[in-house]
Amino acid sequence: PYSTLDDFEPLSTIGCGSYGTCKKIRRKKDGKIYAWKEMDYGSMTESEKQMLVSEVNLLRELRHKHIVRYYDRIIDRSNTTIYIIMEFCDGGDLATLISKCRKDGIYMEEQFVWKMLIQMTLALQECHRRKNGKAVLHRDLKPANIFLDIDKNVKLGDFGLARVLHHETSFAKTYVGTPYYMSPELVNNMSYNEKSDIWSMGCMLYELCSLHPPFTASNQSELNKKICMGEFNRIPIRYSSDLNEVIAKLLRVEVHRRPGIEGILRDPRIQRQQQLLE
Ligand code: ADP
Ligand code: MG
Repeated sequence: PYSTLDDFEPLSTIGCGSYGTCKKIRRKKDGKIYAWKEMDYGSMTESEKQMLVSEVNLLRELRHKHIVRYYDRIIDRSNTTIYIIMEFCDGGDLATLISKCRKDGIYMEEQFVWKMLIQMTLALQECHRRKNGKAVLHRDLKPANIFLDIDKNVKLGDFGLARVLHHETSFAKTYVGTPYYMSPELVNNMSYNEKSDIWSMGCMLYELCSLHPPFTASNQSELNKKICMGEFNRIPIRYSSDLNEVIAKLLRVEVHRRPGIEGILRDPRIQRQQQLLE
């Protein structure tokens, strides 16, 4: 039995995104708190709507402690709006955390970075090893899409929906910002694959440490060049060479030299940190 709009009470608006509004909501029957994303499908084509439906169905299957849990969707035909109900993450997101650190001039604890690294890897493992063979690629890994719960555990969010809605107008909107995390293979117009998610994760971890992305430039072609050269400064010396080396591995330009998820989890440095976390 699907939920209905009447089952929930909107509490506050969390933010407005490129596709709609995200609200904090309460389920009336038990007072439980969730978030929902409201999206108007009124201007979507039939095939875009089909993609949206299959995407939401896929999200419902992704159940992992480090992935934002999607619970249900409600379709309101009277105002052509779909409401996607998901876990509410009250610890903010990594983008906010990074800007706060930059503003205050403080670096994150090394232990926190390892925790982010391991938990993001576990979340991606769940996506990349889908049973029926088809990996779920995130395609939009960036600090703003990594949420934290109250105990500062990773909740990977904002999946696929971005991809569904990447029809021309929204796609342009999505990339109003500079795509600092674009992998070399994407720069070279090759297709997106699991290793591209790994590259983006490397960029994200680098930024967590350095408080700026590994590759920066004032225009796209200069950025593309830097990404394909693959040269970057060491993360600040306060961080161990173990951490520096692991991040550098994720940022290897050649796809075949860059580890996949299983390769990351086999790295003895990662395994050591994983034991510390338990
Ligand atoms: P965007 O297009 O910017 O990604 P979103 O609709 O994803 O827009 O997000 C809008 C705001 O809601 C952002 O500030 C985001 O951090 C927040 N948000 C999104 N999902 C959740 C969630 N599950 N829990 C808490 N906050 C969320
Ligand atoms: Mg988002």
